[in-house]
Amino acid sequence: MTLPFVPESFRWVETPAGPVLECVPLERVAPHFFTTRGVALDPVVMVNQVHGRTVVVIRHDAPLPAGRPDADVLVSNSRAAAIAVRAADCVPLLMADKSTGAVAAVHAGWRGTAAGAAGAAVDTLAREFGAKPENLVAAIGPSIGPCCYEVGSELVDAFAAAGHPRHLIDRWFSRRRGSGIGDQGSGFLASKERLVLDVPGANRDQLVLAGVPDDQIYLSGLCTAEHLDVLTSYRVEKEKAGRLAGVIRARAG
Ligand SMILES: [Zn+2]
Repeated sequence: MTLPFVPESFRWVETPAGPVLECVPLERVAPHFFTTRGVALDPVVMVNQVHGRTVVVIRHDAPLPAGRPDADVLVSNSRAAAIAVRAADCVPLLMADKSTGAVAAVHAGWRGTAAGAAGAAVDTLAREFGAKPENLVAAIGPSIGPCCYEVGSELVDAFAAAGHPRHLIDRWFSRRRGSGIGDQGSGFLASKERLVLDVPGANRDQLVLAGVPDDQIYLSGLCTAEHLDVLTSYRVEKEKAGRLAGVIRARAG
């Protein structure tokens, strides 16, 4: 297995369960990792992900939620339990507050991104734990990239209906030539124009809008549809797809 190249702000770490991806600046604030396709998870708090912006709050002085509540965002100030989201093309987003130590995990595919799940995480960290957006460090893990995420125009309508301003929608959706996954097609398909959506970029923009400094948001730049020996893609592999997890635990609390 050849681990794909990652930017300087990320590093691969070998563990007994296989390689995991860490964001170096985020690691200074909170222990966390993004798994590759085969890594089993220690017990952590997870949710039944429903592609929305509902938040589950984990407090150090309260019992953990029973079962898996329906939600796509977890926030926590508990050292006792890690929180995790799972994804196979959707964006796994992890955040931690430099001052309070509180953390968040977000699962955002196109629906969660249209619904503003990342902003819901920032708002909840502020309201529940007094985290200031300017103190947040965020890592956006591997997801399907704009290189491979062809979508229908009805998604543009869904983002407009959700209230996102036109100039942002125009930035998140673009038209590209090529056949799709990996752009390795030829002939007619290679010259076809496709509408693509940049889900990691949209989540970065939403964090910035919520007050997180741009230079404290780190993107792995890894596309799940292109490194199938290490990552996993629902688009490409359908029901054979595994899941990547983004896991983070608070140092505070
Ligand atoms: Zn790609």
